[in-house]
Amino acid sequence: MDYEKPFDIVIIGGGWAGITHAKTHLSIHPESRLLILDKNATLGGTWSKRRLYPGLKTNNTVGTIEFSDYPLNKDNGYDIEEGQHIPGTMINQYLNDYCTIHDLHKRFQFEQDVQQVVKLENAQGWEITVATPAPDSSKEKPTHTITTRKLVVATGLTSETFIPEFEGASEFGVPIVHCGHLLDWEERLSGAKNVTIFGGTKSAWDAAYQYATNGVHVDMVIRESGHGPCWMSPSRVTPFNKCIEKLVSTRALTFFSPCIWGNAGGYVGWRNFLHKTAVGRAIVQGFWTVLGNDVLTTNGYSKHPETKKLAPWIDAFWIANGLSILNYPTDFFDLVKENKITVHVADITHLSQRTIHIMSTSDSGRKATKAIETDALICSTGWKFHPPLNFVDTTGKSIDMDLGLPYHDETPEKEDTRIQAADQQVLREFPSLINQPVINSKMKPMPSKSVERTYNRGFQLYRFIVPPSCAHERTIVFQGCLQTICTVMVNQAQALWSTAYFDGKIDLDGKSEQEIKDEALLYARFSKWRAPGGYGSRYPDFAFDSIPYIDWLLKDIGINTARKDGWWQELWHPYIAPDYKGIWDEYKQKHGL
Ligand SMILES: Cc1cc2nc3c(=O)[nH]c(=O)nc-3n(C[C@H](O)[C@H](O)[C@H](O)COP(=O)(O)OP(=O)(O)OC[C@H]3O[C@@H](n4cnc5c(N)ncnc54)[C@H](O)[C@@H]3O)c2cc1C
Repeated sequence: MDYEKPFDIVIIGGGWAGITHAKTHLSIHPESRLLILDKNATLGGTWSKRRLYPGLKTNNTVGTIEFSDYPLNKDNGYDIEEGQHIPGTMINQYLNDYCTIHDLHKRFQFEQDVQQVVKLENAQGWEITVATPAPDSSKEKPTHTITTRKLVVATGLTSETFIPEFEGASEFGVPIVHCGHLLDWEERLSGAKNVTIFGGTKSAWDAAYQYATNGVHVDMVIRESGHGPCWMSPSRVTPFNKCIEKLVSTRALTFFSPCIWGNAGGYVGWRNFLHKTAVGRAIVQGFWTVLGNDVLTTNGYSKHPETKKLAPWIDAFWIANGLSILNYPTDFFDLVKENKITVHVADITHLSQRTIHIMSTSDSGRKATKAIETDALICSTGWKFHPPLNFVDTTGKSIDMDLGLPYHDETPEKEDTRIQAADQQVLREFPSLINQPVINSKMKPMPSKSVERTYNRGFQLYRFIVPPSCAHERTIVFQGCLQTICTVMVNQAQALWSTAYFDGKIDLDGKSEQEIKDEALLYARFSKWRAPGGYGSRYPDFAFDSIPYIDWLLKDIGINTARKDGWWQELWHPYIAPDYKGIWDEYKQKHGL
């Protein structure tokens, strides 16, 4: 490939988002010089070979995590039944097959670690600095540069692991591993008798299940000063035995989530009634109470003193996409009752040789300490959410703030007049968000030297895609900088919207740069107020708001948003991937392409 010549478009990241963008762009511009750069050795991002830890499955069941033009089903050779959760290995195979069908493999360059992108003057595009593996590990990685007219950043929100600082780590003497790297450590940990898993997220549950069902005793330490255990729902809920991820994409049920872009899909009267009247808000509260209680009762946390420790601390209303699914072949809670998994709600104070020291504090202030002997500390402690590369101008100065990326601002939020104005608008429109929950009175950050932990401003992108300050230049988009269980349907809408935006088919001319910035800020603030129990302060985090978000994007580019066969189906049949089949052709027809 000729790297000297500028590319028409470069995509950084070859996971779902990058692949979706490549397919979409090429279906409209088949002649484009398009390149996908990925630092991994294979495609798929989260679902790439190196990341597929044993037992990894999707939270989604069949039909809700696939491309609209290529069903992941038996007809296409995937050995999976309706209603099943899809093994990670199958998702990996599916993504590879999709790239074969659309002839995308030749577009990939692997082991290309993008370290920096420079914004060129006069909207000429971007210069990308890429490091490639050194032929000899003692040598520095060689770098080269590539230029492109358009840049797509699809680096995901779970590419870079975050591990906190542990006092005494140097004396520990056994591995400290992030759950994102479990596969790399599989052999080394194969003789372990006891492992400690630190965290309460879905990855922590997955790792605990995996070890406990393979005869390894697990100590699961859930931070007393953190968010608590994540919500784990049975795959099917409500008296109607519905798949949870299909509930969140059922249009009539999306009305029950206050959503600032919710009106894009219509039904404005219903939304106004539910969120702008006292009676409506009482109904909404009832809806969330029923949903939450259904999960709590079915899981039966309170029936056993040990499973009680796994009950979530935050009301379901506030957690957005923080709802995970119990997609295990056997009952997770039995492992806890049988003491194959011992749950501790405590903080890690320090490490010593092969030992983890924890401390908990009772409500009366009494402290209890414990020492856990272990063969490994597995951290399910989250991810770095800033895209893992530097964005600079031609003088080398960071342009994070201009691009609407997370950063640290010296001005407290309360003194920032733009933030105050946005907050007032959010709360005026959605009074139910005023009484924010107290997540945890003992909350404190994990010890860390990572600069990212000091960021107090999250992503502020127009439509959660475009950096406001260069929106009129149409040279850069971010894809997948949000959290949703409708990942692929959302990626498709983002990719089509972005392609239309690059092609000048989205009219921004009526909006000044300041108006675009204010709009991006408003939606970022809404996310913060809406999902304090999730990641709303960092990036958009939504469950029931995904279909309205897709409506919003498709409406901008003139694509029909009501895609079901009749009004009843529109309201009560969940939106699934096949509903968006043909959006690419509809777009081309609409714009005479
Ligand atoms: C364990 C786990 C389970 C999950 N389960 C589900 C699920 O069931 N359903 C669901 O909808 N979502 C799930 N998610 C969310 C998941 O992030 C999405 O499914 C999806 O994979 C996101 O795709 P992406 O392309 O945006 O990002 P990623 O899949 O993270 O891909 C980003 C790519 O960018 C590359 N990259 C990053 N930085 C650079 C750089 N500097 N230079 C070059 N390349 C770079 C990475 O190597 C990676 O290949 C899960 C996430 C995790 C971690």
